[in-house]
Amino acid sequence: MSDGLTPEAALEQAALAGIHRLAIPTPFAVGRVNCYLLDDEPLTLVDTGPNSGKALDELQRALGERGHSIDDLELVIVTHQHIDHLGLVEIVVEHSGAEVAALGIAAERLANFDEDAEADDRFAVELMLRNGIPEEVTAALRSVSRSFRGWGSHVAVTRPLADGEEMEFGDRALRALHRPGHSPSDTVFWDERRQILIAADHLLPHISSNPLISRPLDGSSERTQALVTYIESMKKTREMPIEIVLPGHGDPVTDHVALIDERLAMHERRKEKIHTLIAERPRSGYELAQAIWGNVAVTQAFLTLSEVIGHADLLLNEGRVREADDGGVVRYEAVA
Ligand SMILES: [Zn+2]
Repeated sequence: MSDGLTPEAALEQAALAGIHRLAIPTPFAVGRVNCYLLDDEPLTLVDTGPNSGKALDELQRALGERGHSIDDLELVIVTHQHIDHLGLVEIVVEHSGAEVAALGIAAERLANFDEDAEADDRFAVELMLRNGIPEEVTAALRSVSRSFRGWGSHVAVTRPLADGEEMEFGDRALRALHRPGHSPSDTVFWDERRQILIAADHLLPHISSNPLISRPLDGSSERTQALVTYIESMKKTREMPIEIVLPGHGDPVTDHVALIDERLAMHERRKEKIHTLIAERPRSGYELAQAIWGNVAVTQAFLTLSEVIGHADLLLNEGRVREADDGGVVRYEAVA
């Protein structure tokens, strides 16, 4: 465990190990996305950034600074299904002929981007309506989501990975570990020898990785308990002897145990707050989100609803609340 390693020193240490952060711009609120170049055999890029000319230019320039070009890439690793991370994959593969590695159980999902984006939107709209979000808000969000789709892309996975599978490189081995929660396909890559974890959005330094409610990878319509799953994943990562976490946004994390403990405590506090609100009177997911976040519950309706439902799932599993469902809007009520 490294105490006191600054983010700059951590980036330097990663660079000495041949892992270079390339921070690529996105049009999203999250800001830049971190792609990582593994200067190894095969020459590998972990995530590509979104599908835009600006991202492509900056990726090309960042690779150039390292003495490479997109055409040289031999392998692209996709960490998860979100468009800020994978939008450029198709273009990178067209230029380079690189292989594409990703979690095997996500391959079908990644291949059918357009159909799945439609299905995701339908799923989200139904979930929002069932949880009391007004129709005009869901319609507005749906058109925002449509307008974002151009930054995505479908991805043909040529190298499907199993959970726990080790990938051999000239100068390293990386173990692919499935860590669902933030998205169903989140995969982290573990360099055990150097104790470096390439974590994408599984762990982020400044913002908690929103466990977004998602359709399961198998295509079934039953929603997953994203926060419950995410907490399980974080607890697994907590036990690893990691020195440096290289995240998908922001600076490296050099004390993952403290960060994970902070996140777990925050979710615990939020869960209790939501329980208190439900104990006052039965409330829908939307009413809970409004009570906590005010107008943000409108502008970020799906995000805040995901948060509320995630914590309500914890309370449901503990037997402290139940869902009152009369076929219309679902309300949570406290179990006496
Ligand atoms: Zn993400």
